[in-house]
Amino acid sequence: MAAPAKAEVGKARRRLAAAHHAAVVSHERPDGDAVGSALATALSLRLTGKQAEAVFPDGLPARYRFLPGAATVRRDLPAGIDLIITVDCSTLDRLGPAGVAVPVVNIDHHPTNTLFGQINLVDAQASATAELLYNLAPGLGLPIDVDVATNLLAGIVTDTIGFRTASTTPRVLQAAADLMTRGAALSDVYERTLNQHSLSALRYWSHGLGRLECEGGLVWCSLTLEDRRAAQYGGNDDADLINLLGTVDGARVALILVEQADGRTKVSWRCREGFNVARLAEQFGGGGHDLAAGAMISGERAQVELTVLSATRATLEAVGPA
Ligand code: AMP
Ligand code: MN
Ligand code: MN
Repeated sequence: MAAPAKAEVGKARRRLAAAHHAAVVSHERPDGDAVGSALATALSLRLTGKQAEAVFPDGLPARYRFLPGAATVRRDLPAGIDLIITVDCSTLDRLGPAGVAVPVVNIDHHPTNTLFGQINLVDAQASATAELLYNLAPGLGLPIDVDVATNLLAGIVTDTIGFRTASTTPRVLQAAADLMTRGAALSDVYERTLNQHSLSALRYWSHGLGRLECEGGLVWCSLTLEDRRAAQYGGNDDADLINLLGTVDGARVALILVEQADGRTKVSWRCREGFNVARLAEQFGGGGHDLAAGAMISGERAQVELTVLSATRATLEAVGPA
């Protein structure tokens, strides 16, 4: 899926222009790109005189609450909206809020996007939905002031893990430079979104790292509810430990399993070039990008671990030696 066609961008521009009150929503368990893209879109729409709200049913993770507009996030869809814009969300069932009934403009960069919108602006080449939004902004008539720029930069910085991923092209760096020129503070965004970890998150990591396994190009560990309690970690995620596993020398694929209170298990995969974890995640009802994917799988952790490890090993073997 390359850059959206001009005709589709024009359609979206007219749809945005016709809206009076828009809600901007993203995927559950929002990451920096979900939050940055949603806030940027809502703030930019407000600059054009529209009513617009970013809606996150569970509020925002603490680390993103410094972003401009974060204080105006709503937890439920407001009454009277005439447009929903989804950002960074590949399928309707991953959408944060339930009950989406009005027309949807779908803006995303996941290759696994199911094109569920009435209008779909999907570019799998984009490093982040925030980068896609930056590229589309002139065509959509969305202004970028310093607050919008800060949110877009947060989306790009987090999805490229600080410009480290293979998706970081010269164009991404040019976009980031332009966002800085518009006033976004790169070092501040970088520090707050990627560099700072709570003490409890590091204690949580230590439980998982204590069980770290590495074998045949695969590195993995799991995090349990008991680890979460022991570390007093408040989230239901891996606290980004997967990104550390992905740095292990010689590992081609990293995966992490996180036990959930509802009996399901969240699995995240990361890999180096030459392997595609989105296809693997899709086998388990998930999705994502070639090099970073995830799935929420029914079943308790130990059982899911066996199934997922065996599928991942099988795919590694099918691909052959690096
Ligand atoms: P994560 O493993 O949650 O860090 O996510 C890595 C990538 O996979 C992100 O682009 C997510 O949007 C995507 N992803 C994670 N979980 C799912 C899921 N259950 N379904 C579809 N995509 C997912
Ligand atoms: Mn995301
Ligand atoms: Mn993204």
